Amino acid sequence: MKLSVRHAGLSDIGLHRTSNEDAFVTQPPLFVVADGMGGAQAGEVASGLAVTTLAAAEETEPLVAAAQRANARIYEHAQANEDQAGMGTTLTAFRLHGSRAEFVHIGDSRAYLLRDGLLEQLTEDHSLVVQWVREGTMTAEEAAVNRFRSVLSRALGTEPEAEIDAFDFEFEPGDVVVLCSDGLSGPVAPATIADLAGRSDPEEAVHLLIRDAKNHGGPDNITAVVVQFHAGDELSTDEPVTMSSAGATTAELPKAGPVQSESASVTEATAPALRSPRASLPAATSVLTDATDRRPHHRVLKIAAVVLIALAALTMVAGIGLSRAYYVADDGGYVAVYRGVPFEIGGIGAHRLFMRTLTPVSALSLDDHQRLDAHDLMRKQTAMDRAAGLGAQP
Ligand code: CA
Repeated sequence: MKLSVRHAGLSDIGLHRTSNEDAFVTQPPLFVVADGMGGAQAGEVASGLAVTTLAAAEETEPLVAAAQRANARIYEHAQANEDQAGMGTTLTAFRLHGSRAEFVHIGDSRAYLLRDGLLEQLTEDHSLVVQWVREGTMTAEEAAVNRFRSVLSRALGTEPEAEIDAFDFEFEPGDVVVLCSDGLSGPVAPATIADLAGRSDPEEAVHLLIRDAKNHGGPDNITAVVVQFHAGDELSTDEPVTMSSAGATTAELPKAGPVQSESASVTEATAPALRSPRASLPAATSVLTDATDRRPHHRVLKIAAVVLIALAALTMVAGIGLSRAYYVADDGGYVAVYRGVPFEIGGIGAHRLFMRTLTPVSALSLDDHQRLDAHDLMRKQTAMDRAAGLGAQP
């Protein structure tokens, strides 16, 4: 069956992050969302490598093979760059061959299907809490608010071989697909996603979806791709896909990352069948990070007045001057106290090591690890106390 698609994609830095580590592609017949994580800009590199690798793949190559190649590229990059060790990304993508789509998925970004007014999640989150729900130790309601809800059990680029879900799906006229990062699916209720994605204009849909995520706090980077399927193969005339990011990172995304494209028809084509449909959730292989952990340790930022103003306001609210701000962080694997702010400005370190403890970060509980990576700014004594609270001895 021939289907035409109308689509739009949009990414936003959100309200609490200083960089956007999400990336997406809307390049019919390919649609991709990736949500990167890792220190020292590694998250952006990881998600960028994922989307560029898929965008560059031949259409005759199974999408899962391209995803495996992206995994290898990210893994090798992390091996070669010590400060980006542990980098990874989610990946949720599909490529159309007529009405059939080959999907690949790893991590906690999501693909939703809206059909006949009902919203169904086509992908399964590879997260610890979903595993706990599956094992019966937690309810779905508890999982939704659990502080470990963003801890992934699987991701792209963290292991030499990735366990990627791959499955085929047959679309029908009237279907709508939403690909999104957890910055959208977390704050925005499924009923709202269904309501907004069902709007006739996908461009309007992605804007409204992101606005709703921000209205609900916008704690993370937010990315939405909406693809609507219509009968026929005529090109429709909807607006080009847009990409926006309120931060300074848009220009730094890889060229093939946010691809601008107009709607297109997708014709019948053949592609190799995929062998591992809708894989079930395995045991956790690598505990990566959570919502707060995804923030890089030391961000290298372009001089962005808005960030400095926001930071100055933040520290003033906290009653700390910028020069008197401290924070607790990982220094070479040990708990440490830094003076300054947890990133660099214009290539100049805006922080320096104040005290390094003998407490290895590896000895910390997941909870304490979260606290460490939050990089909250505080007064000197508070930071010293915090370090001591993490079992540190000055
Ligand atoms: Ca995210």
